[in-house]
Amino acid sequence: MNLIFAAKSLLVTRAANGDAWYLPNSSQLQALSYQPSLIQIDGVNILGSISSDIDLSPFPELRLVNLRQALNFFGMEMIEKIIHAEQMLFYQSTHRYCGSCGQATSLSTAGKWLHCSSCEHEIYPRISPAMIVAITRGNQLLMAQANNFAPEVWSVLAGFCEVGESLEQTVHREVFEEVGIKIKNVQYWGSQYWPFPNSLMVGFTAEYESGEIVLDTNEMRTAGFFTKDEIPGRPSTHLSIASRLIDDFIAKH
Ligand SMILES: [Zn+2]
Repeated sequence: MNLIFAAKSLLVTRAANGDAWYLPNSSQLQALSYQPSLIQIDGVNILGSISSDIDLSPFPELRLVNLRQALNFFGMEMIEKIIHAEQMLFYQSTHRYCGSCGQATSLSTAGKWLHCSSCEHEIYPRISPAMIVAITRGNQLLMAQANNFAPEVWSVLAGFCEVGESLEQTVHREVFEEVGIKIKNVQYWGSQYWPFPNSLMVGFTAEYESGEIVLDTNEMRTAGFFTKDEIPGRPSTHLSIASRLIDDFIAKH
C-alpha cells in the first residue's frame, strides 16, 4: 500500500474516466523517481513522506490532496489506514529526539511508540481527547459556525479536554464558553479518532436547559437552534462523527 504524504496532504491518482481516486501504484512511484523512506505499521502499511513543493507537472494523473478532502474519496476501511499512517508518520517526524536526554529516538520493536536507548525513556503518540455534542431543544438542534469554518460549513459544538477535567465537565464548560447556555442530560453517544490534529473525538447528546445564546466571538461566528428542515449547512466530510451526530438527529426528529 503506497501511502505517501506531504505534510497534511496525500498523494493520489485520478482514474482516467471519472472522479474516483486511488493510491499511486509502484510503477507511478518509480516514474516519479521516488524512493520512499519505508516505515511499516502493523507489518502491512508502507508509507513515506515527500516535500510539499515536489514538481508533479510531468504526471498529470498524480496530485496531492488535502487529507480532509481525501477522506471523501475512500471507503471507511481505507480511511482508517490512511489516518493511522498519517498520524504515525507525523508522530515520528516530530519526536526524533528524546525530550529527557536529547539523544535520537528509535521505533520500539512493537512499532507503536518511540524509545530512547540512551536513557530508556519511552515516548507514546500524543492523542488529544475532545468532546463533540449534539444539543437539542425540542425538535431543534444547536448548530454553529466557528470563525475558521468555510461559509457553507456548519456543525455541532466541539472542544478539547483540559488537564484535570472529565469529559462531561468539558462538555458543560465548552458549551457555556462558546454559546453561553446551560445543558442537561449529557449522554455518551460514540467516538471517532480524528487526525486534525490528533483528536479522539468523544460524542455526546444533551438537552438545552437554560440561557440565551451569547457567542464567544473569539471562537464563534454564529450559532442557533434549527429544525431538521432548517439545517443551514453541514460539516466538510460526511464521515466525521459531527456529520453522523447530525444524521442521527435528523433520523429521530
Ligand atoms: Zn533519552
